[in-house]
Amino acid sequence: MKLNLQLFAVPFRRTSKTKKRMRRTHLKKEVGAITICPKCGEALRPHRACAKCGYYKNEDVLHVVKDDEK
Ligand SMILES: [Zn+2]
Repeated sequence: MKLNLQLFAVPFRRTSKTKKRMRRTHLKKEVGAITICPKCGEALRPHRACAKCGYYKNEDVLHVVKDDEK
């Protein structure tokens, strides 16, 4: 009987916890760009209307329903 074996590269030894963690220090999520609403001070994504007060470029562009209007 002829064995048809395929050989693969196999790690010589187990990667230690430290080495694994050192490698993964670069694998992290980055915080995206954030701006501050000039009217209410809420943190915003750039080029988007404020979800809290509805302002964008010093203009009221959204009608924001407040808790007392519901
Ligand atoms: Zn705002």
